[in-house]
Amino acid sequence: MIRINENYTKLKASYLFADIAKRVSAFAAAHPGRPVIRLGIGDVTEPLPPACIEALHAATDEMGKRATFRGYGPEQGYPFLREAVAAHDYAARGCHIEPDEIFVSDGAKCDCGNIQEIFATDARLAIPDPVYPVYVDTNVMAGRTGPSVDGRYEGILYLDSTPSNGYVPAVPAAPADLVYLCFPNNPTGAVATKAQLAAWVDYARRNRAVILFDSAYEAYIRDPQIPHSIYEIEGARDVAIEFRSFSKTAGFTGMRCAYAVVPKTVTAWDKQGRPHALHGLWNRRHTTKFNGVSYPVQRAAAAVFTDAGRSQARALTDFYLGNAKLIRSAMAGLGFTCAGGENAPYIWVNVGRDSWEFFDLLLEKAQVVCTPGAGFGKCGEGHVRISAFNSRENVEQALERIAAALR
Ligand SMILES: *Cc1c(COP(=O)(O)O)cnc(C)c1O
Repeated sequence: MIRINENYTKLKASYLFADIAKRVSAFAAAHPGRPVIRLGIGDVTEPLPPACIEALHAATDEMGKRATFRGYGPEQGYPFLREAVAAHDYAARGCHIEPDEIFVSDGAKCDCGNIQEIFATDARLAIPDPVYPVYVDTNVMAGRTGPSVDGRYEGILYLDSTPSNGYVPAVPAAPADLVYLCFPNNPTGAVATKAQLAAWVDYARRNRAVILFDSAYEAYIRDPQIPHSIYEIEGARDVAIEFRSFSKTAGFTGMRCAYAVVPKTVTAWDKQGRPHALHGLWNRRHTTKFNGVSYPVQRAAAAVFTDAGRSQARALTDFYLGNAKLIRSAMAGLGFTCAGGENAPYIWVNVGRDSWEFFDLLLEKAQVVCTPGAGFGKCGEGHVRISAFNSRENVEQALERIAAALR
């Protein structure tokens, strides 16, 4: 009799986006003349940079000619893309990352979810709350937790992100082996300073832990003091793996291209205490289970690093940050304390009441959809996330309606 992986039965059903959709469609059915504006989405809305489209067309034509056709490429990504990433995303910021330490993939979601495979099943986890659910759920599936009790899995050290710590958790007193961090953060929009990240690197070095650093939103950082990469911190090359994506940087959510950085110096140990370079383990995992991102998509991603691509991608993030600024100042003007929205496309609004109650209020009084914070974890209660991914027209209209409803 074939049996299931019973860890899957521990997963809390993720009702968040299904619940939102249900409430929105019920409202729309009851009020057909009142169009709803969605500021709940974590997906980009603007089209790809023209430089990427040109590269995509050119690469597609190459695929149509015998002389330039390409079949399987290197699983880790083509050298032209790995070299561009190393030069523009790392060397240019003073970080030493070799092209062969970069593993190109079809998404940071898969990378963040798959990376746990190379660690022991009894690794002790430290995971922020509120959080991007992928970090937690993939570890539940792998059997690294007990059951969920009162909304929290046994066996996870939760790192509370609250108004009192500015949504940036300090290092805990207790040791952990695997630490997930995400800055700029989804959902809070908070960013970590160099000193705050340095404390985490120090924690990892002291505890022989590994930091999994998700910097999917680094392109939204405008404050020059805020680090874009964990490798801007001295010593991080020995203890940190970083995830990045072209999704929010250049509108690639429907194209699929991202990368993981595994420096050759990041180490974990076996039962006998012998050190192993994680680079070799991840290379084995990646080449065994993945066959590379398509050639045209890698060409489109590399075009993000050309002069034209860089300014076009920058214009995209500038545009969303313009929306974010409007949202943050409107919500602050209504008396709410807000985080995020300055170096991130999300505004985390402290609504001081049940987050679903506030969601319903915005939907019914303003026909605007936000995301209730409780859906991201216990510490998300009392907050909602408002996303800057929409047209300027929709954002302005949504803010007018919110002001009229709440004033
Ligand atoms: C959007 C997002 C990603 C990127 O995911 P892709 O699979 O590359 O599209 C990664 N991490 C977080 C926290 C995100 O919000």
